[in-house]
Amino acid sequence: MAIRPIVKYPVMSLKEVAKPVTDFGPDLEALVADMAETMYAAPGVGLAAPQIAVPLQLCVIDISPKDQPRDLIVLANPQIVKGEGAEVDEEGCLSVREYSADVKRFERVWVTAQDIKGQPMEFMAEGFYARVIQHELDHLQGTLFIDRLSSLKRSLYKKKLKKILQEEERRAQEKD
Ligand code: ZN
Repeated sequence: MAIRPIVKYPVMSLKEVAKPVTDFGPDLEALVADMAETMYAAPGVGLAAPQIAVPLQLCVIDISPKDQPRDLIVLANPQIVKGEGAEVDEEGCLSVREYSADVKRFERVWVTAQDIKGQPMEFMAEGFYARVIQHELDHLQGTLFIDRLSSLKRSLYKKKLKKILQEEERRAQEKD
């Protein structure tokens, strides 16, 4: 197992649609183990494969409270077949530096997916879990939560990001 580097916006590969998972086996299990370790280390409640530069329809989620045992959910080729209700709440992303914003999502979603062994599954999720699923599935379609904001908010974030990146560059140069 290894912690992989997380790809951050504005890296363009985050905008690509991921390919279906077709090989279920030891390689996929190793990839999922790395994804889980990377997510827990961040720490985050979800991570999609494109966030570690692997363009596959695959994500890991764990929304269990900090003082509870881990409860890792692995979704391969997930799809939302139905959504219901609407809820606005704050979201951030491991691939979006220093930013969070209110995003409107379905309150409840019905999901089909495959597990790590390729077995089909079907379930309903609601509330925070439903939000995380929608956020991660967006990644598999090349969409970030900032793509769901108004163009004004997005352009304000882009300005802020420019400063963050300049600062990162300045610090990197100081190290040289
Ligand atoms: Zn994200």
